Amino acid sequence: MEKRLKAIGLVSGGLDSALAVAVVKRLGIEVLGLNYFNGFSAGAIRIEMLGKEDMGAFLDQRTLDLSRSLGVPVEIVDISEEYIGLLLEPKHGYGANVNPCIDCRIYMLKKARERMEAEGASFVFTGEVLGQRPMSQHRGAMNTVIRESGLDGYLLRPLSAKLLPKTVPEEEGLVDREKLLDIQGRSRRRQMALAEELGLTGYSQPAGGCILTDENYARKFKDVLDHEGARVISRRLAVLLSAGRHFRLPGAVKIIVGRHQMENHYIERDWAGEWLADPIDSPGPTTLILGDPTDDDLLTAAAITARFSDAKRESSVRISLKRAGEERIVDVAPVPDDELDRYRV
Ligand code: SF4
Repeated sequence: MEKRLKAIGLVSGGLDSALAVAVVKRLGIEVLGLNYFNGFSAGAIRIEMLGKEDMGAFLDQRTLDLSRSLGVPVEIVDISEEYIGLLLEPKHGYGANVNPCIDCRIYMLKKARERMEAEGASFVFTGEVLGQRPMSQHRGAMNTVIRESGLDGYLLRPLSAKLLPKTVPEEEGLVDREKLLDIQGRSRRRQMALAEELGLTGYSQPAGGCILTDENYARKFKDVLDHEGARVISRRLAVLLSAGRHFRLPGAVKIIVGRHQMENHYIERDWAGEWLADPIDSPGPTTLILGDPTDDDLLTAAAITARFSDAKRESSVRISLKRAGEERIVDVAPVPDDELDRYRV
């Protein structure tokens, strides 16, 4: 019996990779989908804030959802531990925010190449569309990614293949180039039409969710790089940067004010070794104070906490400042807005 061809597809959960899978399946090729988990999706960060024990269930559900919706087996590849190193020193720099997209894709594709070799698969494919994303999907970046991932000739982009050089599986007649597409640019019109033709539903929006592309997150991340340097950035801190309102005091102490119950609980649970501030007589946020605060810094942190409490219109608010068994109770006036704005990150 003739052996069926196999390909490794990078799948994100978005429309483009779903279309690429459907196009490759339509060629009669068996597909194994790989979904990379770098820990920086909004969903993953939320799970970490809720308590890491739920992460296994989150990933299992993601595997199931992707396999069901794509109709092919999908494996999650967890790269969250090693990802911080890549994030701090991306050889090809960042995109508009702190998204190291070119390095990220090279890393994922190198791993996919290893998997292709181990599985005896014929090629790797992605749902990339030429010219769709400013950083990683212009022709130069696509070529860099091919070269540095070691996939020269073996990386197929079915949605834009007719606009790109022929790959080895096309040269060898394993893949019929005529059945591939020539989509390019930022418009989603052709993808939507193809989705209808292929009977794919539920993908009306482009996939998003990588918080490294979020400008608010990037601002907080860069603030840490500027004031404390890359050496302090860990996975734990990277999660914290997506929580709360951030303020930087003149002496470099950092204040993070929880915005809602989930963030308040997360700060209390995961950062209990640091100074925390809480209003005593009225509902309000839990505030984390990082660095080496002076007594004045602690009072400012208390005043900021008072400003975000339900007692923000009172002239004096009682705040508890706690760290590792030590507690101070202070009465402070909520910080005025113009002063607050000077500290805001
Ligand atoms: S947006 Fe960029 S950095 Fe984020 S997962 Fe995608 S390629 Fe990687």
